[in-house]
Formats: sequence, C-alpha cells, structure tokens
Amino acid sequence: MDCIFCKIIAGEIPSKKLFADDSVYAFADIDPKAPFHALIVPRRHVDSMAELNAGEADAALLGHLLATAGNIAREQKLDKGYRVVINTREDGGQTVDHLHLHLMGGRAMHWPPG
Ligand code: AMP
Ligand code: ZN
Repeated sequence: MDCIFCKIIAGEIPSKKLFADDSVYAFADIDPKAPFHALIVPRRHVDSMAELNAGEADAALLGHLLATAGNIAREQKLDKGYRVVINTREDGGQTVDHLHLHLMGGRAMHWPPG
C-alpha cells in the first residue's frame, strides 16, 4: 500500500521517533504547528477515525492512542496543557489517509479551530 505513515512505521521513510510499542508509533511532525507537535498512529493501517466503531478492538486501539498521547505530553512536561486533534476525512482537513492523532503543545491554542 502506498501510505506514507505505513512507510514511516516500517522505517522506509525516516522519522524522529518519540514512542513505539506493539500497536502504536509516535513521531515528530515534519511541519510543526506548535513548539511541540507529535503524531501518534496505529501500526495497523486504518484510513481514518471514520473506519472505527465502538466495538471492543477499535475502542481499545483508540483508548491506547489517546493514553499514549497523554504519556508523551507528560514526558514532554506540557504541564500547562496541550491539544489532541484527529482530523477526519475531507471536511476534517485530513491530508494523510492513515489514522493519526496530533499532539500539540508549548503555546496557547485558539478556539474555535478553523
Ligand atoms: P492531517 O492534515 O491531519 O492529515 O495531518 C498530516 C500531518 O502529517 C501533517 O501535520 C504533516 O505535517 C505530517 N506529515 C506529512 N508527512 C510527514 C512526514 N514524512 N514525517 C512527519 N510528519 C509528516
Ligand atoms: Zn498506512
């Protein structure tokens, strides 16, 4: 499959690794939108959040992705706060069709997002 994040997970495209385990991989965003900007992705290719449901397996994966974002935020000492975003499909502004969580911190975020 021609997926840039699958290639990053496989090590075929370099990335700055922040965390890895059996089911997720986290790395620095190449075009950071905040002083700290990480992407957390499942190792298994999933196009987007819209492909997942509340069944046990998907819920466990989503929970693990979120908990990993929280762990990385703690490690990075983002104690003042941070933002986690999952852009989904066209209207959500998704540009890479492999599910990913953005973890951004190190500055005050605006609301509502654009
Ligand atoms: P989204 O627009 O939500 O699909 O986010 C895709 C993100 O992937 C963007 O923030 C890009 O900067 C990031 N990105 C694209 N290519 C790479 C890459 N090779 N390494 C790290 N991040 C990337
Ligand atoms: Zn993929």
